[in-house]
Amino acid sequence: MSRPSRALALLAAPALLVAGCSSGGDASDDTGRVAALASFYPLQYVTQEVGGDRVDVASLTPPSVEPHDVELSPAQVADVSSADLVVYQSGFQPAVDEAVEQAQPGHVVDATAAAGLDEGGTHADEPGEHTADDGHEHDGLDPHFWLDPTMLAPVADAVADALTEVDPDGADTYRANADALTARLAALDEAYRTGLATCERDVVVTSHEAFGHLARRYGLEQVGISGIDPEAEPSPARLREVADVVRDEGVTTIFFETLVSPKVAETLAADLGVRTAVLDPLEGLADDAQDYVSVAEQNLEALRVALSCS
Ligand SMILES: [Zn+2]
Repeated sequence: MSRPSRALALLAAPALLVAGCSSGGDASDDTGRVAALASFYPLQYVTQEVGGDRVDVASLTPPSVEPHDVELSPAQVADVSSADLVVYQSGFQPAVDEAVEQAQPGHVVDATAAAGLDEGGTHADEPGEHTADDGHEHDGLDPHFWLDPTMLAPVADAVADALTEVDPDGADTYRANADALTARLAALDEAYRTGLATCERDVVVTSHEAFGHLARRYGLEQVGISGIDPEAEPSPARLREVADVVRDEGVTTIFFETLVSPKVAETLAADLGVRTAVLDPLEGLADDAQDYVSVAEQNLEALRVALSCS
């Protein structure tokens, strides 16, 4: 390399560094955009939708990783302290709770508070009379609130408010984006309401109990093979209970999910002579051509087939 081109290469280096920062999505505002950090996929989705072009959103949970027991690297903990905004869900990912407590980021949205999960963990106008009174319902809060789209809308509002504090010039954009997202979530809720209104069955057998909020909202009954923690091994007694439910209720389908091994669900389904299908708890995004709404629409179709809805 001749001397002049070397000098040019050196001059170009800072620009490359800036580009590297933005594509890496680390918590840096070299780009002039707000650097937001979400703790896992549904919160990342909301923050991206509300932030639009003004905000770079990184996630603390890699896209195809199950978020319950995520571990954070020291670099990620540093990102938590340097981010302009952190959107997380207290009580769901202990490592993230710890990092937020340690790092004390300047602006934080806690989805647990925004969605009203800390006020008893149920939705204000829940229609369901179904409580899974089989000794498998947990006293603890079901963290999977995002599967009820109406509970995600208040998080969009909280994110818009927090982004406005960070970046007041974007106030109108954030408000308009939050309103547009709320409208899409309302349309999704309406599709679920009408799509699940008339079905031959209402029992949904899932591999882990991620669908409590969804079941309550739409009048279904969830029977989880594992509990709220997807990695928990079901006991032989639990497998017998689930098998009894499948036989007694004429269940056609045992659902498994994208980020957890389907082995237990497949074995049980084979033993009982029923189908398996995917019901995605949306804890991550296995396919980045999809998003929250498109996966939720696929879930609705899978439920309608399994429950013979008209
Ligand atoms: Zn879960």
